[in-house]
Amino acid sequence: MITYDHIMVRFGELSTKGKNKIDFIRTLNKNIIRALKDFPKLDINMRHDHIYVTLNGESYEPVIERLQDVSGIQGLSLVYKAKDRGIENIKNVSLELIKQETGKTFKVKVKRSDKTYPLISDQITRLVAGHILRNTVGLTVDVHNPDILLSIEIREEAAYIFAHTFKGAGGYPLGVGGKAMHMLSGGIDSPVAAYLLMKRGVNIECIHFASPPYTQMGVIYKLEDLLKVLSKYQGRIRLHIVPFTKIQEAIYDNVDESYCITMMRRMMFRLADRLAKMRHCPVISSGESVGQVASQTLQSMNVINQVTNMPIIRPCATMDKTDIINTAIRIGTYDISIRPFIDCCTIFTPKSPKTAPHLEDCLKYEEKFDFEPLIKEALSNIEVKFISSEDETKEDLL
Ligand code: ATP
Ligand code: MG
Repeated sequence: MITYDHIMVRFGELSTKGKNKIDFIRTLNKNIIRALKDFPKLDINMRHDHIYVTLNGESYEPVIERLQDVSGIQGLSLVYKAKDRGIENIKNVSLELIKQETGKTFKVKVKRSDKTYPLISDQITRLVAGHILRNTVGLTVDVHNPDILLSIEIREEAAYIFAHTFKGAGGYPLGVGGKAMHMLSGGIDSPVAAYLLMKRGVNIECIHFASPPYTQMGVIYKLEDLLKVLSKYQGRIRLHIVPFTKIQEAIYDNVDESYCITMMRRMMFRLADRLAKMRHCPVISSGESVGQVASQTLQSMNVINQVTNMPIIRPCATMDKTDIINTAIRIGTYDISIRPFIDCCTIFTPKSPKTAPHLEDCLKYEEKFDFEPLIKEALSNIEVKFISSEDETKEDLL
């Protein structure tokens, strides 16, 4: 019996990146090696337009599953590598492989990347399909909607034959998209937003505003657990914990209750803006979702946003809460996010926060009380933690 012995990793979007392509492929290759380090039997080979994973007897399911989480991969095919590219061998292998499949109809699709191959695609298709039809019972050709799509790719080094293709995570390889300063709260949305950014190839550093003693150490443990899950995608993540208590108390002492949330969020974005610049992050990101709460109406977002001219990426902006929750469950952050905790947004929650705040009112409050010294103080007292998955912690120690 012939078994599939390779996984072909396709880049999709990457191929359009011209001159930068080689950097992209190298980064992706590195990320794949990291994602597959629990499978020592595998060989990973980088080529100019594909990466091949040789299974060496390893079963493919867990490997494919792991690869489906690696950003920058468009698709994955389980392939048989026929080193003998002769048409007789291709015919025989194709027949053997299709016999292992279930289905009544099939189509043969040929891609001839090596243009020196003596037969053209159309000839190969006819020869292989004819051979299959003559040697099987009950199989017919359906070119529009076949049960089995048997693909053959003729390359210089071999012919690759396959019938199973899996969808990849898409996006760009992590690390090629630069860094975002991500606002991490410990709720459900912000870890999902972080994951969505990573999926596009954006690395993150996290900023968290803590208000002890109102918020407890438990929140930090929770963030550490969330980041352990997320570090599966990016590797070690830097978490900046900003002491926010004094700013928050100053807000509650000097601002009308209905404006407290708006003002608090303006302060958060001010701090995120300064830290992002210090850390060379060209953008800020958050888990905000349009209309979810009072501070996330369009009017609120506009007034809050006025404190920074940095782009703010909000990957969850238009997602339904149920979609966000489903994503959180899938990536493994949901159970951690729902652990009860007190966030600095939940303490002092006003009875009726403004859903349509005015910028002039915010400016008035900020004129009346000088927040700048408190902002500077908070920035100079940031606590930094590095969080990684357990494996990587071990690696760091070596
Ligand atoms: P939830 O799932 O409860 O909505 P959330 O993370 O979305 O949690 P929100 O109160 O909706 O929390 O806040 C919107 C966004 O603001 C968060 O997604 C996060 O990016 C940012 N944010 C809120 N609180 C903090 C905090 N204490 N530190 C850092 N960022 C925060
Ligand atoms: Mg939210």
